[in-house]
Amino acid sequence: MDISHILNSLNDAQRSAVTSDAKHLLVLAGAGSGKTRVLAHRIVWSVEAEGVSPYSILAVTFTNKAAGEMKQRIYDLLSRPVQGMWIGTFHGIAHRLLKAHWSDAGLSENFQILDSEDQLRLIRRCMKELNVDEKRWPAKSLQFFINDQKDEGLRPHQVDVSGDPFKRHHQKVYEHYEAACQRGGLIDFAELLLRAYELWQKTPSLLQHYRERFQHILVDEFQDTNTIQYKWTKLLMNESNRITVVGDDDQSIYGWRGARVENIHNFAQRFAPCETIRLEQNYRSTQTILSAANALIANNSDRLGKELWTEGNGGEPISLYSAYNELDESRFVVERVKQIVEERGGHYKDIAVLYRSNAQSRVLEEGLIRADIPYRIYGGLRFFERAEIKNALAYLRLTQSLHDDAAFERVVNLPTRGIGDRTLEKIREIAKIEQVTLWMAAEKVVDRQLLPTRAANAVRGFLELVMGLRESTQALELWERVEYINSGSGLIEFHKKEKGEKGKARIENLKELVTAAKYFEPEEDPLVEFLGHAALESGEGQAAPDQDCVQLMTLHSAKGLEFPYVFLVGMEEGLFPSQMSLQEEGRLEEERRLCYVGVTRAMQKLYLTHAESRRIYGDERQPILSRFVRELPDELIEEVRINATVSRPAMMQGSGAHADSECEFRLGQRVHHAVFGVGTVIQVEGEGAHERVQVKFDREGAKWLMATYAKLEPVELA
Ligand code: ATP
Ligand code: MG
Repeated sequence: MDISHILNSLNDAQRSAVTSDAKHLLVLAGAGSGKTRVLAHRIVWSVEAEGVSPYSILAVTFTNKAAGEMKQRIYDLLSRPVQGMWIGTFHGIAHRLLKAHWSDAGLSENFQILDSEDQLRLIRRCMKELNVDEKRWPAKSLQFFINDQKDEGLRPHQVDVSGDPFKRHHQKVYEHYEAACQRGGLIDFAELLLRAYELWQKTPSLLQHYRERFQHILVDEFQDTNTIQYKWTKLLMNESNRITVVGDDDQSIYGWRGARVENIHNFAQRFAPCETIRLEQNYRSTQTILSAANALIANNSDRLGKELWTEGNGGEPISLYSAYNELDESRFVVERVKQIVEERGGHYKDIAVLYRSNAQSRVLEEGLIRADIPYRIYGGLRFFERAEIKNALAYLRLTQSLHDDAAFERVVNLPTRGIGDRTLEKIREIAKIEQVTLWMAAEKVVDRQLLPTRAANAVRGFLELVMGLRESTQALELWERVEYINSGSGLIEFHKKEKGEKGKARIENLKELVTAAKYFEPEEDPLVEFLGHAALESGEGQAAPDQDCVQLMTLHSAKGLEFPYVFLVGMEEGLFPSQMSLQEEGRLEEERRLCYVGVTRAMQKLYLTHAESRRIYGDERQPILSRFVRELPDELIEEVRINATVSRPAMMQGSGAHADSECEFRLGQRVHHAVFGVGTVIQVEGEGAHERVQVKFDREGAKWLMATYAKLEPVELA
């Protein structure tokens, strides 16, 4: 069999790593030097050249996305399709193990995974049951504590609390929480790892089985493994298995979440005999980008130390833009994105916008939506996507506009009130024939006695309920309004009747919506803006998964990825480096490594931006330029000025527009409606039969309409 293709596209150092006979191998190398590539090639090499069974390979990546890419790389290189490899994240693999051996692991067969929001909620409930005051002991810090202990492999009784009242207190909640999880058949992320570890520990026959099975274990991004992941890996090793790890100590960015960079520092010694290979050539970035990265990371002490070089060209200077404020920053990004696509022939997917904190995405998203640029957020908030939240929002929207057809459809029979499909059909029919909104049609249907009495009463009941909510909430503050509607609509009562965890979680989410409203900071019209905010958060403005679109993500989630064009936004003291890292010992260096990760994602061109004034987390600041920018050599940087007047653009009223140019209506389009007259399209959501548009009518104000019923006519501008 010809296996030369596996080695062809590798340099000498990479080739010796791929083909190394060493039992234990450490590849220690900087960003973009081909570590992940080596890992994939080594797997293929061992299968094709060494005859290792795919069944005996276990490969661990840091994210699911990376696992997907790894599989793709491997399948592309293999000469034939293979089965049986385990490739996934530590969490994914642990989950798989627990699913297979739930009984040995002391779990119920259909155990559920708690995401971190669910976890926080359950912790809150435990605290209530224990009468722990959340003002004194924030639930979040307890969540941190519990996960920390688990990451260290410690059960409540193993936590050393001697003489530490703070810890003793936390331990009590941990204990209570653990019991609640066990009763409910629930498993949080940290528990996945700890359980999988304990499973092997207490079931020697099982451990023996997997030790025999996984002859070759390979781990990417090893610098960010935590204690339990390390122990788990170590446990799997015996005399005959081999392990290959790759990583970069300069990219260790999860110390705050329990990752132990010592794991890579000490690897060679702990897994002796071990061969260590260093890769120094970078294949990703231009010399300019690389020089910037090298200069930046040189400010850290305690490094294993490595310099990267590239044969790549010098490349363009790094652009630095000083924005007037966060809106101007967003405007700059949008402008450059357009330039990249229109003038430089780039694709949207070649562009990544990276930020330190999730909260920064809001303004960027608004800018992109306004410019009709498709984008996608990785790891964004999911809160507003939940069904119960959408229901509550639908009631809220109806109280804002009775003619919001989509909201009407959503909750007309929720909670169930005996409005069946037949009744709804009738209402839709009238709406279509008479070209009115569903609300108006419902009124007509009742007035003209077109329905059997039971159904008519049900519809009347709904109309009266909404009218009642509308009247009672008009004068209330936004958050009071949300609270009122939660119960007034019957939603809370409805979910109370649901059995088990689900119903409780839904009620808690509804309460959380009240909190979200409390902290929401409107500019002018709280309700309208809050609804716009929610639409945006629910991801309706996001591009479809396979669409060519700009990639937005936090710096943490960008690890391991690469993009031709990268924007690092918010380069300000207090934001990046974060305020916390400035206050806590030892955090600054991790923050700098995070910046190093960001810079080294860029292949061709890097843009840095900062704002002279920024509204974030509910206050306005005048931050100074990040030290990380100041640490970059001047000659690599070019300051950008835009010749446009800098002004605070008016906030869009609501957002969440669909960025698909295929859809029938475009933002800003002028349209005519038979009843409401002329208006401007300000939002478009959904597709086909579900397409709905929000139109701001000149006379009647903003209204949501189902495109299929509304019969909107485009208005030609004279
Ligand atoms: P990171 O530290 O960011 O995870 P990495 O060390 O894992 O980076 P890779 O992602 O494996 O680096 O490789 C970086 C880029 O360089 C990829 O696009 C890869 O295909 C390319 N590359 C690596 N080695 C070579 C090579 N020998 N010839 C051509 N391209 C290469
Ligand atoms: Mg990599």
